[in-house]
Amino acid sequence: MYFTYEQPRFDVKDENEIRRVIKEAYENGCEAAKQGKVANYIPELAKANPNDFGLCVRSMDGKELSFGQVDKRFSVQSISKVVNLAAALKFLGFRETFSHVQLEPSGDAFNSILKLDTVSDLPFNPMINAGAIQVMGLLTNVMDFEDLLDFARKFMMDDDIVLNESVYRSERDTGDRNRAIVYLLKSKGVLSGDPDKTLDTYFKMCSLNVNAKSLANLGLVLANKGQNPFTGKHLIHPGYVCTIKSLMFTCGLYDESGEYGVLVGIPSKSGVGGGIVASVSERWGIGTYGPALNKKGNSVGGIAALEHMSHLLRLNVFA
Ligand code: GLN
Repeated sequence: MYFTYEQPRFDVKDENEIRRVIKEAYENGCEAAKQGKVANYIPELAKANPNDFGLCVRSMDGKELSFGQVDKRFSVQSISKVVNLAAALKFLGFRETFSHVQLEPSGDAFNSILKLDTVSDLPFNPMINAGAIQVMGLLTNVMDFEDLLDFARKFMMDDDIVLNESVYRSERDTGDRNRAIVYLLKSKGVLSGDPDKTLDTYFKMCSLNVNAKSLANLGLVLANKGQNPFTGKHLIHPGYVCTIKSLMFTCGLYDESGEYGVLVGIPSKSGVGGGIVASVSERWGIGTYGPALNKKGNSVGGIAALEHMSHLLRLNVFA
């Protein structure tokens, strides 16, 4: 925890001051990253440099403020869950999607199997592995990986996103927990797609190579109610964006979502590749990259930077 929390008192408006605060946030992120460890349960992720840190903030008028490693590519990991959910809502609708997955925070680790077996047949939410795999089961009936990749590129305004083959292979070869989840869903009779195809597409979506800038773009489209602010193109209905951001707020950082919601209070989604996307409604998209993670699998540097910005720039949705 970075601040002893009081009601935020700051609301910096001056552009130079905002720049100064964002630079400070970046510096805090670099410092905090020293406390974390890179993920190693997917062997390929263990190769990341724990000292890397980058912060990119983009606004509706196209202005961008970037510090550090914002061009470096890394695997999107669980942030793809936002894209998958968006695709499910767009192509299948709210009713169909949420008759297969719930809308509740799980309070468990992102890869937990516990409650899926003992408490509920339907996964708790689309932001944890079980829920995202379930959503992927639905999606594989109506689109394939290439369609999802195309959708991800549009959402992140980044045509250079490609599959990171070595991360994909590493995930596929070691993803036994996810394999357990997909077969548990199948055994309960709730999985809509073929288990192997579902899991393969899930792994591929986790292995897309993005950077902090593409994440900032994703945050920006969500901040702009699903419309690309530069082309005017509507990618997804505003009502669905509201659903996605609500789930990001309540579930986006797994079993750290509650604390993060209080200390940062911006709809966000993390991934074990080190990324965090945050969306400040009608204002900014923020992308951070810091592969040093805390015990919950969230980027230590990213959280520190976002906490600093949120506190000083009054970005908490309730502030
Ligand atoms: N691909 C990772 C997994 O399935 C994603 C997890 C994450 O980013 N939290 O375990």
